[in-house]
Amino acid sequence: MKIIMLGAPGAGKGTQAKMIAGKYGIPHISTGDIFRANIKDQTELGMEAKKYMDQGLLVPDELTVKILLDRVAKDDCRNGYVLDGFPRTIPQAEVLDKAVEELNESIDFAVNVDVKDENIIKRMSGRRACLKCGATYHIEHIPPKQEGICDSCGSELVLRDDDKPETVKKRLSVYHEQTQPLIDYYNKKGILREVDGSQDMNDVFNAIVAILDGADKH
Ligand code: ADP
Ligand code: AMP
Repeated sequence: MKIIMLGAPGAGKGTQAKMIAGKYGIPHISTGDIFRANIKDQTELGMEAKKYMDQGLLVPDELTVKILLDRVAKDDCRNGYVLDGFPRTIPQAEVLDKAVEELNESIDFAVNVDVKDENIIKRMSGRRACLKCGATYHIEHIPPKQEGICDSCGSELVLRDDDKPETVKKRLSVYHEQTQPLIDYYNKKGILREVDGSQDMNDVFNAIVAILDGADKH
């Protein structure tokens, strides 16, 4: 099963993608996580991506598309994957379509996690991320067992540099301009499904599972 998670930054794509990956036994692929791992390791790719990420801008398509295509070509993607944060532009979506079509395959669903901008700002300021294993928490809604420490790997949790309110506003405007058009793109292909992302995370997950298991009557 090949799934794309759509939604504004902070809508809960990563939270849901991890749960989907766990339930369906497919890899969770986050281009943001790949960039952050590269920044942490101070690779050339990481240093280049950081310039854009720190300003709330998208990393250029040429760089992003390459890392995504390399990742989905790996063996663990043979039974599918859940993409979180890719595609973010129409050209990225077109490259993905082409790559999937070349394998005579198709994307099953593009799930749009819908959350209003006001709620996004609140979510981002409370988000805490583990840069080691990619786990994400929220200081109020989804707290770790021990404050500031990752439940999964015991590393220290941080407020991402790009989750500061000024950068979040920029990221939201970039989202509306460059990424939101993908909703229409996938709607026209007949694979768009919408979920209300302002619900409790387990309710959002149940709505997604109903869609993926075909119980959804759209
Ligand atoms: P995205 O991957 O779309 O940027 P995340 O999954 O990282 O978003 O979620 C953003 C923040 O909101 C995180 O702090 C996360 O713990 C929290 N969060 C995710 N889903 C929910 C939810 N349904 N209700 C409340 N908070 C949530
Ligand atoms: P995320 O973790 O998905 O919120 O991504 C964090 C940041 O990484 C974004 O604000 C972008 O700067 C960059 N990024 C992640 N995925 C992409 C993508 N598909 N295209 C361009 N930039 C991306």
